[in-house]
Amino acid sequence: MRLMPPRCLFCGQAGDLGRIDLCSDCLEALPPLVEAGDRPRFGTTGETMELENWGIELESALVPFLYAPPTDAALRALKFHGDLAPAQVFGALLAGAAACRGEVPDLLVPVPLHADRLHERGFNQAARIARAAGLWLGRPCAPQLLSRRRSTPPQTSLAAAARRANLHGAFELAGAPCGGGRPRLPSHVALVDDVLTTGATMAAAVEALQVAEGLRRVSCWAVARPASGFLTPEPCSPGDP
Ligand SMILES: [Zn+2]
Repeated sequence: MRLMPPRCLFCGQAGDLGRIDLCSDCLEALPPLVEAGDRPRFGTTGETMELENWGIELESALVPFLYAPPTDAALRALKFHGDLAPAQVFGALLAGAAACRGEVPDLLVPVPLHADRLHERGFNQAARIARAAGLWLGRPCAPQLLSRRRSTPPQTSLAAAARRANLHGAFELAGAPCGGGRPRLPSHVALVDDVLTTGATMAAAVEALQVAEGLRRVSCWAVARPASGFLTPEPCSPGDP
């Protein structure tokens, strides 16, 4: 703390929230996804039904922030420029939001990138966020547990139904025991992504986890969600959300 005092990610002033690069003024100014007293916006368009159909207890997604300034720019800096500070800050905030809901999983699993995209980018932004959240919660993170079977077209260009079709069977769960059988997972797993749009990616990841034995509960966490449920494609951002 003395050698590297916290400095706010957004305003550059000294941090006043302990070991997190954020100040209380900027924290208060971050656009929340859910206004006090509102019902969560996630699930108002039918995607929650889709997610619940997987047959395991799926909590309504934990998404603390609206994908709007300055959260959107910080997440883009992480995703496209490898700026790690947003991963640390948003990981800590996700962990705090989860702890407030009493939702502390046994294991955190980031939504994976396809190997080609991981190679191109050099890192998975969701894994960076998940690792930071796991450190705050004292829970392990398993970035290799899920993998993408195939490269999918950028999700930003597809409508909700097309996204679900595009992603069905897209993920694979690692860790099947030698000699076959189903992999085992702890009882409660949290899937972590940077941005949640229609929920199709999360649904496909839940589908892959469901193969495992022992799993009873999946929490879906993301840092932010666009108000419309969709990201506007950007010319400089060829990745999916
Ligand atoms: Zn600040």
